[in-house]
Amino acid sequence: MFARDLDYSITRIKGIGKVTAADFAALGVEKACDLITFFPRAYDDRTVMRTLADIGPEGGSINTVVAITDHSHYMSKGQRVLKMSARDLKSGRMLYLHCFGRSFMENAYPVGTSWYINASVTKLGSSYSASSFTLAESEEKAGIGMILPIYPLSGTLTQKTVRKAVQSLLSVRFIHFDDEIPASLVRKHGLMPMDEAVRQLHFPSSNSDLDRARLTVAYTELLHMEIRLLRTRKAAASQEGPAAVSQLEKRLISSLGFNLTADQQKCLDEIRRDLDHGHMNRLLQGDVGSGKTLVAWISALHEIAKGGQVAFMAPTELLARQHAEGAAGLLSALGVNVAFLTGDVKGKERGYLLKALKDGSIDLAVGTHALFSKDVAFRKLTLVIIDEQHRFGVEQREALSQKGRNVHVLMMSATPIPRTLAMTVFGSMDISTIYTMPAGRKPVVTHIVDEKNRERMYASIAVEFSRGHQAYFVYPRIDDEGESDLKDVTSMYTFLKEKYPDVPSALIHSRLPEEEKIRILDDFRAKKLMYLVSTSVVEVGIDIPDATCMVIEHAERFGLAALHQLRGRVGRSSLQSYCFLVYYGQPTGDAVERLKVMRESTDGFRIAEKDLQIRGPGEFIGSRQSGFLRLKVASLVDDVELMAMAKEDAEAILRDDRGLLREENAMLRILLTSPAEGS
Ligand code: ADP
Ligand code: MG
Repeated sequence: MFARDLDYSITRIKGIGKVTAADFAALGVEKACDLITFFPRAYDDRTVMRTLADIGPEGGSINTVVAITDHSHYMSKGQRVLKMSARDLKSGRMLYLHCFGRSFMENAYPVGTSWYINASVTKLGSSYSASSFTLAESEEKAGIGMILPIYPLSGTLTQKTVRKAVQSLLSVRFIHFDDEIPASLVRKHGLMPMDEAVRQLHFPSSNSDLDRARLTVAYTELLHMEIRLLRTRKAAASQEGPAAVSQLEKRLISSLGFNLTADQQKCLDEIRRDLDHGHMNRLLQGDVGSGKTLVAWISALHEIAKGGQVAFMAPTELLARQHAEGAAGLLSALGVNVAFLTGDVKGKERGYLLKALKDGSIDLAVGTHALFSKDVAFRKLTLVIIDEQHRFGVEQREALSQKGRNVHVLMMSATPIPRTLAMTVFGSMDISTIYTMPAGRKPVVTHIVDEKNRERMYASIAVEFSRGHQAYFVYPRIDDEGESDLKDVTSMYTFLKEKYPDVPSALIHSRLPEEEKIRILDDFRAKKLMYLVSTSVVEVGIDIPDATCMVIEHAERFGLAALHQLRGRVGRSSLQSYCFLVYYGQPTGDAVERLKVMRESTDGFRIAEKDLQIRGPGEFIGSRQSGFLRLKVASLVDDVELMAMAKEDAEAILRDDRGLLREENAMLRILLTSPAEGS
């Protein structure tokens, strides 16, 4: 049987009554199969002796032999409490056992007797004491030599009740768990039979057995996940050789004045192969400034050279315009016709554009989602590129690929996602990743600044101004209404005007009219303005090479992803850039952690992994998408290697037996094929 076959209520298990069942239900354990996979969150390892000498100032648990040397009493909250003195026979140190409400112990553990003890000890000065302990005459009773499971608890549940319930279920005679992966893989990776692994995970007989049991169950989960993911994909990626590079692409590349990075090349190879031999549904991810947009333009040329049209969609008008200008600058000289289309393009001009799109005289249309309004038609749209995809909903993406038949889709994301999560969240897409930055970039130097000590920061920014470099001052958006932050950002602006009286600047926030924002950014780019004070509108995509300073006020309130995005606005050229993370008050644990991560790393992928560690996968990607992530034992953070192995194995299985029809894969078919898609 499989664990999932134990499809009956836990109330049928010996010793589980109504109250216990309700407490279990609060933990998501309602059926016997839930209890089986309700794995310990930790273990109390009593296989090694730990004496008082091993306990540091933070306390900890001991596992040793003591002799009772004295009994005394004291009063606490009107109660007479027994205090037993005990000598740790292994370290010679003294331990005081406080027996609240357990005066009977006076008779049970007379002075002069010796006991095995397991206790959780606190250390105050040089004195050790414990109020939670077990004394036993045999090692076995004290659990010495055992590894005891520690389960999550709720309500009246105790470790003892949960252990008993699991024990009682596992001892039912007909229960035997079959392997959930093919026998060849159990052998290949030296795994345990599933039945043994489940039992060992609950009640390990040794640390090495526990490790192997964990590996077995984690690998099984990951293999299942990978197979599910791979099966949701459409056609398998093409196995054809490298695609031809058109003259147009070659001309652009040779005109750049720099070489593509190895990662850019590799991504382009993958994209071209899709475009020529397959159907592309690909995510291109890379940190801000890693050169994704350039890869996108070259991919566009690949289609244009074949006579196709390309649509490039950006999330805001501002970014769309920046991209349209960038594209025109790079591609017009090659004879490519670039057009810019947003909701604001109206009347005659719009009519002209729509006609040109329809008759195919425009090769590349850059715009907002307006590109996909009803009245827009293309002659031969073959590729859609979506910048900053996380801002678009699924429906918009769908609407867009319906503008052409079998349109290739390339999405770009500057929010690096750890490898493990990317495979999961974007399971139905192929992924190309740019890990390394173009050569010559200097990592942004990041300072953490207590807001009370901001003067030095202003002085160093003044030096940057004197060199003709520019700065951003960002205030967080505190709530969506934005009244209060507008006030904050406005007073910051006034303050800075006094601080830098001769430096031209502007205030930019989300409620300014679009033309106003565009004008300000144009002036900033032209260096008519030297700094911008803003709410987080500069977060996405703005590209000003001479901006070298980023000041983030209330940095303690921003998440890691946002901090990283904001910092990505500087360090976009060979100039040395600086980021100042200004905090207020006493930041809490997670906030301190985030600021440290920012100071220590500029690598978006590392930061994303840290973020994942701090927040956990559900939070990280939003709970709606995390269904796939309900792993009980495997960890998307710590099991990267195992995951890669599982992925490889999953691919091999599906390559030979896509329908999972072979006898050796029968369990996979049963477990992973939902009735609807069943064969
Ligand atoms: P992204 O879209 O990933 O944020 P961009 O494509 O906008 O990055 O590139 C950022 C800057 O780096 C641009 O000015 C671009 O011309 C430049 N760039 C791109 N690739 C390279 C490279 N291989 N070497 C040097 N500079 C590059
Ligand atoms: Mg970009």
